[in-house]
Amino acid sequence: MIQYHSAINKIMGTISSTEFMCARCAKLFKTCCQDREIYITPADTTRITDFCNRHDFTEWCAPSDQDYSDQSDDPVWDRHVFRIDRKRRILRRTSSGDCTFLGLSGCILPVTVRPLVCRLHPFMYTAAGIGVDPAPDCPKCLVPDGMTVFDALHMSTEQALLWHRMLYEEILSENDYDNRTDF
Ligand code: SF4
Ligand code: SF4
Repeated sequence: MIQYHSAINKIMGTISSTEFMCARCAKLFKTCCQDREIYITPADTTRITDFCNRHDFTEWCAPSDQDYSDQSDDPVWDRHVFRIDRKRRILRRTSSGDCTFLGLSGCILPVTVRPLVCRLHPFMYTAAGIGVDPAPDCPKCLVPDGMTVFDALHMSTEQALLWHRMLYEEILSENDYDNRTDF
């Protein structure tokens, strides 16, 4: 573990502290665009298709781990995002786990086209609202003194609240699973 921290510190010494946090994160770690299962709403799918004329970026998958599967704190998510077979629509990934929209300098989709789940990361939320603490996967060692993770990522709570409302409106547009016929 000590060796790991000293390796990180050594690499951090070569990275400009003025560089955007996600760019520094990508030089040190697997990022949130490389090892996540990203649920996308029907409207996300339409926005992305309209932007890049692609139709090959979604798949229906059961969660690979318990964190995605256990939505007991968010019955709206549990009821509307999952089909009766417990699969949900997510972004396809390459064999290495990278999102297919990940380019050399980060996401190739403009912010207004990105899936709402991506736009909201690292806010944590349920249908009831958003929390004050960030998801633990953003490396706090990259946050400048006196700033929060959200400051460092240039994210405002006001914007997050708008995207959160949009996300749950779009989740509610999924057919209720009792009526689902698309599988
Ligand atoms: S949002 Fe967080 S985990 Fe994702 S690339 Fe940026 S710093 Fe890393
Ligand atoms: S759509 Fe963009 S932000 Fe979302 S996981 Fe893919 S590369 Fe990352």
